Amino acid sequence: GPRVVIIGAGIVGCALADELTARGWTGVTVLERGPLFVTGGSSSHAPGLVFQTNPSRTMARMARYTVEKYLELECFRQVGSLEVATTPARLAELHRRFGFGQSWGIPSAVLDPAATATLFPLLDSDRVLGGLHVPGDGLASAVAACEAQARRATARGARFIADAEVVEIRSAGGKVAGVRTVDETYPCDIVVSCAGFWGPRIGELAGVTIPLLPMAHQYVRTDGVGAHDDLPILRHQDRDLYFRAHGEAVGIGSYLHEPMPVELADLPGGEHPSMMPFTPDTFSESWDAAVDLLPALGPKRIVDGFNGVFSFTADGFPLLGEARELSGFWTAEAIWVTHSAGAARAVAEWMVTGRSSLDLHECDLNRFDPAQLAPAYVFERAIRSFAEVYDIVHPLDPPSVRNLRVSPFHARQTELGAVFGEAAATGWERPLWYAANPPPPAPRARDEWSSRHWSPIAETEARITRERVAMYDMTPLTRLEVTGPVSFLQELTSGDVDRKVGGVVYTTLLDPAGGIRSDITVARLAENRFQVGANGPLDLDWLLRRAPAGVEIRDVTGGTCGIGLWGPRARDVVAPLTDIDVSPGAFRYFQCREGHLGTVPVTMLRLSYVGELGWEIYARADHGLRLWDTLWAAGQEHGVIAAGRAAFTSLRLEKGYRAWGIDMTSEDDLYQAGLATGPAPDRRLTCLVLADAGAVPMGREPVYADGAPVGHVTSAAFGHTIGAPIAYAWLPAALTVPGTELEIGYFDRRLSATVATEPLFDPEHQRLRS
Ligand code: FAD
Repeated sequence: GPRVVIIGAGIVGCALADELTARGWTGVTVLERGPLFVTGGSSSHAPGLVFQTNPSRTMARMARYTVEKYLELECFRQVGSLEVATTPARLAELHRRFGFGQSWGIPSAVLDPAATATLFPLLDSDRVLGGLHVPGDGLASAVAACEAQARRATARGARFIADAEVVEIRSAGGKVAGVRTVDETYPCDIVVSCAGFWGPRIGELAGVTIPLLPMAHQYVRTDGVGAHDDLPILRHQDRDLYFRAHGEAVGIGSYLHEPMPVELADLPGGEHPSMMPFTPDTFSESWDAAVDLLPALGPKRIVDGFNGVFSFTADGFPLLGEARELSGFWTAEAIWVTHSAGAARAVAEWMVTGRSSLDLHECDLNRFDPAQLAPAYVFERAIRSFAEVYDIVHPLDPPSVRNLRVSPFHARQTELGAVFGEAAATGWERPLWYAANPPPPAPRARDEWSSRHWSPIAETEARITRERVAMYDMTPLTRLEVTGPVSFLQELTSGDVDRKVGGVVYTTLLDPAGGIRSDITVARLAENRFQVGANGPLDLDWLLRRAPAGVEIRDVTGGTCGIGLWGPRARDVVAPLTDIDVSPGAFRYFQCREGHLGTVPVTMLRLSYVGELGWEIYARADHGLRLWDTLWAAGQEHGVIAAGRAAFTSLRLEKGYRAWGIDMTSEDDLYQAGLATGPAPDRRLTCLVLADAGAVPMGREPVYADGAPVGHVTSAAFGHTIGAPIAYAWLPAALTVPGTELEIGYFDRRLSATVATEPLFDPEHQRLRS
């Protein structure tokens, strides 16, 4: 294998050395600025609570592997965890978290107050409405895990060197060549920064932005209160607290205090640079809240406390992968003890084989738009992540930094009463629905959770799209302009993109094992010029890394804009406006043309993500307002409306169109995802129709067959044309026969669902082709 230098011997650096050497890469050197293995980093004093349950399947599975591995290495005590609810909203949230556990294979149970007190006798059960018990959770001994993994790595040839602070990263020809410490130089092919919250400083040495914010968080230990080492770890999310036993004493961690961002220059010197002095004033509210839950603490005192530093990112996910700016420079940062072994395994697989078996798109270092790398953005979002770490977060809750990216239609959308949401991955604002559209005469009742950030107006917008015509803002869709020979895209995609000029192909980017890295549309605008409709920055990254000389790739998203004009009257709207022949024979489905629409130079793609006649119409951003106004004016006599994301998702699910990153990822192949027919797959993305019209899942809920969890929901929405909620779900192939009766876990309910033949709407695609 190549020569690898890992910077940092915290729990992540040690886990990575173990995972790399286990895969036969023995030329691994771990350089640590402090001593081994109480290095002074975050791992040295982490209390080590491991709660595996997470809305993200990837994070949950990283945690699960961490537990399995540390159990085997005998540095994990599986005492179980308890999360308590003191409000009805939290109790409902615990049921939702139980569902995540069912979906991702982490058994748990929701307990009544008496049962919580049996598990954790120090609890005042009168204060508690219930609890979530996860028997597989527990306590990792972080330093012991460092030692155990380092020992195995050393036995396989790795070196761990203390007092070796990296002060320079050397490169040659855009590639890593080595690192230098104060004393020595280490030539190498690959550097992995596992420097924890020091990551940004290592990034500076490499010329790579590492978007994380070091923050302090308070942890104390009490006098003995009659605790014991077998007590489960405990969370009291309603007051932002967590607890563990230290023998007879209790340790209390708090996120209740104001966020405390830390400048690296202000870290204390000495042996524990990640331990800032304790600030008792900011802990008093936490103490009162702790006593309220655990009355036995009342007469006791805090024996010691500190403000410990660790990493926060804008979206709460780690930073994994190889920087594009400097080949051979990797990061594995912003990782908790909880996910340490799982993240290290994923990165090691990726380094050694070119792919991770776990979908890492949420964690990829290259996932950000440039604005999302701005220090001001990282600061504000990380502060909010800290404050919200235990909050009940709805998937559509708006972020703290708004209007990061807006389309040129924004002013018009606002005039129409648009309610905006953020496309989280890319930071674009996009309308969810428009208040200017009337609600339906008899809106359907819908459960409270799925009614948040939703409006019955979505039904109006969906219906008018099917009956007349609607304008959808497609600006947030990533657009790449690729110039060069067709062979480049032909080799990278699963389909045949070598069509005549004017052809459009829907296809996928596959990883070395056939996993779906993205789904894209490729429009051939000229012999050597293509417009690629993609899913985000990771697609740009994927193509740039593989582009040979002579191929040029530009992200034109921000400089352009687009409107999806869809519905049976779409042709009537555009025909009088354009010099392009839009007659059915001249401009067919999956074709593209360039021309004008009024005064606006446009590229029209005859595609529809909602299953109707129509076009994606793209223009330069400076022409955008004019494009909107032109279509809007011409559309009036055809009853045009503007429609938002809520209607869009409903229509796309009626047509069975998959959303990459939600319905399918690199863990799935084309056959499993239903994008190609071929060999019989073991599991399939499957369409379910729900019986209860009043409950609409949001995604990630478990699916049950005969009472046992068998899969999970990806996307769901009410299908207004078919008159029932639709859910797509991953299921074992044997359960995907149409008519199969299943249940979806939704909070404390089980919703009946039936496997349906897809697509539910217009299976012959007559509308698209009209
Ligand atoms: P670190 O352990 O910080 O290791 C990074 C290493 O890099 C350090 O040893 C450092 O010395 C070294 N380094 C830095 N710069 C250089 C350089 N230039 N050259 C050489 N070496 C360098 N997580 C949980 O999962 N559960 C918990 O209960 C929990 N509780 C926490 C409580 C507190 C108070 C704190 C502060 C954190 C807690 N965490 C918890 C978070 C967890 O501790 C960290 O996320 C985790 O330890 C990070 O591990 P790491 O290996 O990435 O970083």
